[in-house]
Order: sequence, then C-alpha cells, then structure tokens
Amino acid sequence: MDNVIVKVENLKKWFPIRRTIGELFRHEQKWVRAVDGITFSIDKGKIFGLVGESGCGKTTTGKLLMKLLEPTGGKIMFEGKDVTHLEPEALKKYRRSVQMIFQDPYASMNPRFRARDVLEEPLIIHHISEDRAEREKLVSRALEEVRLIPPEEFMSRFPHMLSGGQRQRVATARTLILSPSMIVADEPVSMIDLSTRAEILHMMKAVQRELNLTYLYITHDLSTARYFTDQIAVMYLGKIVEMGESDEIIDHPVHPYTKALIAAVCEPVSGKVNRIKEVPIKGEVPSAEDIPRGCRFHPRCVYARTQCWKEEEPQLVEVSSGHWAACRIFA
Ligand code: SF4
Repeated sequence: MDNVIVKVENLKKWFPIRRTIGELFRHEQKWVRAVDGITFSIDKGKIFGLVGESGCGKTTTGKLLMKLLEPTGGKIMFEGKDVTHLEPEALKKYRRSVQMIFQDPYASMNPRFRARDVLEEPLIIHHISEDRAEREKLVSRALEEVRLIPPEEFMSRFPHMLSGGQRQRVATARTLILSPSMIVADEPVSMIDLSTRAEILHMMKAVQRELNLTYLYITHDLSTARYFTDQIAVMYLGKIVEMGESDEIIDHPVHPYTKALIAAVCEPVSGKVNRIKEVPIKGEVPSAEDIPRGCRFHPRCVYARTQCWKEEEPQLVEVSSGHWAACRIFA
C-alpha cells in the first residue's frame, strides 16, 4: 500500500523583482527563484530533513507546504488529495492536519498569553471544544506529551517565565493539540541553548514515535539532521542536489556541495568520526536572481569542468538504491 503522506512535484516559488523604468518599457520581469522545481515525497511516520545554507529555499519550501505561500508552479499532494490551491474552508481543514513549529518560539507566542491561553487558542479557532473544562483537559494532555510535568505548574506561566527549552516545548504542544498528521519544524532548536538542544530533539522524536507523526525538519545543521531524520534532501539555490536515507547521505555523499557541508561540521556527526577531508568551497552563495547557467553550483565547485557550465543543468540520478544526486561528474 502507498504509505506516502505528502508528495511534491516540480514545486516552484518565484518572487517578482521590482522593475526599473527601462524594464517596464521592455515588458521585462526578473524573478528571485527561491524554490526552482523540486520533487520529493515523505512517507507517513517518517522524518524528512531539508538541509542547506541560508537562502537555499528550505524555509520557503516549508511555507509552501504550510500553505503560507502560494506556489508559482508544480503540485502538492497531501494524503492523496491535490492541495496546491485551496479555498478558505478547505485551507482551514488542511491547517489542522499540517502544523508548524517556528524557529523562534518567543516571537511566535503572544507575550500577554499564559501557556494555557497559547494552547487553548487553536482549540477555539478550530471549534474543537466549546467546553472550558474539556479544553483544560486537552491542554493538560498536550503539556504532558511534551514532558512539561506536572502540567498545572506550567499552565499559568507567561512566555517570559519559561526557559528557551520550555518555550519550545509549549510551541510543540500547541501543534500537537490539534492532533495533526504532519509537522513542519523550521530550525526548531537553532535559538535554544546548546545544552538543551539534544533534549528537545529527543522529546520531539519520542512524541513523533508515540503518535506516528510525520515531520518535515528544516535545518542548516547536518549533525542534528543525522540524528533526527530518516531521510535527507540537500538543497542548493532552490534545487535539491542530493537526496536519500540519512545514514547513506552522511556516510557516502556524492555531490561536492554535500561533501562541503559535511566537512564544515567541525564536531563528529552524531558520534561518528568525520572521515571526509575538507572539501574547499569557493566564495558565497550567488543570488537567486541570477542563477548560474549549467550546474548552479559550478562557480563554487572545485571540481567544475567545462561541461559543468556549458551543458544543461544536471538532473537527479539514482547513484545507488534510493540515493539520488545531481552532478555531471560524480553521479
Ligand atoms: Fe561540481 Fe560539475 Fe558536479 Fe556541478 S556538475 S557539482 S560543477 S562537478
């Protein structure tokens, strides 16, 4: 049986750039190609990591899946239904099934709301329960799920009375309270102290297993991706350049960009010795307004040869079972 919960086909998000007078006269329009035709699917109950540097399009992809942005092209299928463009009523239903954990839990909470109010709000919006006592039970259960025990102790706290880790637990509880099928977690631990990160990821993983949830985990940090995810897709300038099982990608990377990301992780990746020698990477990420022709990574790639920029952009090919990479030389 098909176990796919979400399937994305050739998804694009291009943002128009404000035109100069000359461009207006010439009817020219330039675009920032934030997400430039990506395809992947996530199985139910799995954790899929989107990894890459800032500006690679991973957060835009998360927002497209959350339906916070309308795609420019492509298709999103969720639980077998086309959800690419939704009417307001269907969108509200979809948002109950797909929830998001934001990078900064402090900014995503109303500072005048106690933890109880933060958790009750989605219940009220989605008309889950009109009964106060019933809502209180659901709030209490959600706090227990994220290991804020005893829940009564945390219910009356305002965000500033919680530690960074506790705030992220409340943010996670807020997503769980609606019993979603999938959670988009955008850099959920990047604003948390190093000492608490592992604890929060551990809690998120335990909850995911208990409730058979699916996560899209967005991160720039390969060391947490290795520990946390089942599969990884590496994004560069709006495209997926490598994708496969997490262990396979970390142990046997093929694309020079993935190798450079792994080499940049100074500590061993999840307890393993980093065997990849430093792969130099040249310069900065180019602007998504002006994507290099051919392989978009070629200006920064130390292995680039003439065919890398003279020929068509390399497409993902299967280099071993379930392991895909887009490189003209190595794949
Ligand atoms: Fe580097 Fe060429 Fe492969 Fe692109 S196609 S990643 S430029 S070797």
